[in-house]
Amino acid sequence: MTLSGWGRYPRADCHVVRARGVDEVVAAVASSASLIARGNGRAYGDAALNPLSTLMLSASNRLIAFDPASGDLTCEAGVLLSDILDVYVPRGWFPPVTPGTKFVTVGGMIAADVHGKNHHAAGSFGDHVRRMTVALADGRVVSCSPSENGELFSATRGGMGLTGVILDASFRLRPIETAYIRRETLRVGDLDEAMSAFEASRDWTYSVAWIDCLARGATMGRSLLFRGEHASADELPTEQRTSPLVQRPRRSRRGVDEQGAQAERG
Ligand SMILES: Cc1cc2nc3c(=O)[nH]c(=O)nc-3n(C[C@H](O)[C@H](O)[C@H](O)COP(=O)(O)OP(=O)(O)OC[C@H]3O[C@@H](n4cnc5c(N)ncnc54)[C@H](O)[C@@H]3O)c2cc1C
Repeated sequence: MTLSGWGRYPRADCHVVRARGVDEVVAAVASSASLIARGNGRAYGDAALNPLSTLMLSASNRLIAFDPASGDLTCEAGVLLSDILDVYVPRGWFPPVTPGTKFVTVGGMIAADVHGKNHHAAGSFGDHVRRMTVALADGRVVSCSPSENGELFSATRGGMGLTGVILDASFRLRPIETAYIRRETLRVGDLDEAMSAFEASRDWTYSVAWIDCLARGATMGRSLLFRGEHASADELPTEQRTSPLVQRPRRSRRGVDEQGAQAERG
């Protein structure tokens, strides 16, 4: 199959293997001289391409356990972030860190140790992973966490699939009152102002700037800086307060946006 990353370059003819669950992944690893795991192919470059063997994990997509008291979720590595949002936002839970697209897998989020717009406060996704199971090249299936097989855990988090195949993972979702973000937009005139605005936004959960990279001279770095908080129920328009966790596709008034309708952008 011809595969590429999100950037559509390079493209490579890859021998594709599909595996679901521990036994099939271990068998795939054992029968390949060289293999890389692939989540949903949203890495920009060639990270999830191996002409000799590319292991598709999209069928390893089961939610395994959820504790509604703590928010602890355990799921297979091929589960999509979009599925987690669909299932848990209506129940009042949100992932601790989300990248700029929801079409990534849990395995891909751990392997790239993705960051979100709350990086300054929450760290990256790996900071929230409590445990994972990894299939190693020698056939072993190893559970690891910050305190158990810690070196494997640290190397796999951000390891871009090079330590083994992540089979499943546990991490904690955060409680939310509504499916909406209360947002403020600041216009800033140059890069210094943008950096100062970020510093001044440290107490906001989310912050991100769109920088005009074509501006030169005094306006170099001019930006729109967005900062946001999970909206509380009493911040919603009255008609939405009866079902605050239901996502509506339309943008509402007062700068409160739907989280789930996020477009794919970097
Ligand atoms: C529009 C867009 C916006 C983005 N925004 C952000 C952002 O804000 N922050 C950010 O950090 N990133 C961002 N990214 C990058 C994206 O989050 C990462 O590339 C992520 O790893 C893609 O996940 P995936 O499931 O598609 O993995 P793939 O692209 O399939 O694979 C990526 C890497 O993860 C490895 N991998 C995947 N699954 C497993 C597994 N089960 N076991 C072991 N290794 C595995 C692969 O081998 C590969 O090295 C963005 C990408 C796009 C397209």
